[in-house]
Amino acid sequence: MGAQILDGKAISAEIREEVRKEVGKLKAEKGLTPGLAVVLVGEDPASKIYVNNKAKTSRELGFHSELHLLDAATPHAALMELIGRLARDPGIHGILVQSPMPGQIDEGAVLLAVPPEKDVDGFHPINAGRLANGQSALVPCTPLGCLEMLKRTGLDPKGLHAVVVGRSHLVGKPVAQLLLSLHCTVTICHSRTKDLGSITRQGDVLVAAVGKPRMITADMVKPGAVVIDVGINRGADGKLVGDVDFAPVAEKASWITPVPGGVGPMTIAMLMKNTLQAAKASLG
Ligand code: NDP
Repeated sequence: MGAQILDGKAISAEIREEVRKEVGKLKAEKGLTPGLAVVLVGEDPASKIYVNNKAKTSRELGFHSELHLLDAATPHAALMELIGRLARDPGIHGILVQSPMPGQIDEGAVLLAVPPEKDVDGFHPINAGRLANGQSALVPCTPLGCLEMLKRTGLDPKGLHAVVVGRSHLVGKPVAQLLLSLHCTVTICHSRTKDLGSITRQGDVLVAAVGKPRMITADMVKPGAVVIDVGINRGADGKLVGDVDFAPVAEKASWITPVPGGVGPMTIAMLMKNTLQAAKASLG
């Protein structure tokens, strides 16, 4: 294998430690404890694991942590009332409402009800617009994690050709905007892109955010590229696989993120960083 591995577990542990220290400093110097409220409506088993991990990590880092587990039949109005209360609570700096939500909940309305300054998921249109305008914003956690991994290669991103496969609001678009802010030349590909391989082969940096197991094969990768695999797919054998055909691509790339243990663990670390950023911003 030629590529160096970008170890998401190790990098996210470093980031969490940095956040823990900063939280201690913020408490000691400003008397401020960052607060994160995580809300789940329903019983989805995967979502339960996610929200528990988020609440547990925030406690470990010294945050004030609230976990609101609501019944699957919770009416939309009751959820909105809770979000309104959290929005007004000065001890809460970040609000995260876990998706997917049950059918009676209007997810669009929930997204708008979280104030942009507490929107630690970075999904509010104000934050999306600020990112698109190149202004400071709370940025979605997974794209931030991708950028953090690129930074850890030590490469100067200026002028590199970054190819992003996927254009979702959650991952592809914000990743592309962040890469642009680092002065990469950015190409975004999607399901209608013609001759995908001819474009991905130009990428000094290649980000795959598609959701199709091992679709990025070695012949689609430029020798020496940095390959960041956001995809999380369940293979036929039940194991997790990324969007990148890892072993052959690792022979060709200079750096690569594994799945699992790559971008995945970064997401929660960046959520903690976003909550810290929101708490600091609340000081004015
Ligand atoms: P979406 O389904 O919202 O978007 C997928 C994107 O891939 C779309 O833009 C789609 O194009 C594009 N696409 C689909 N098929 C092809 C193709 N054959 N060639 C080129 N592009 C294609 O997914 P997300 O962005 O939400 O997630 C992407 C992956 O990342 C998933 O595997 C998801 O599980 C994972 N993920 C991982 C996270 C983590 O923490 N590591 C967090 C979030 C997501 P079009 O727009 O034309 O339909």
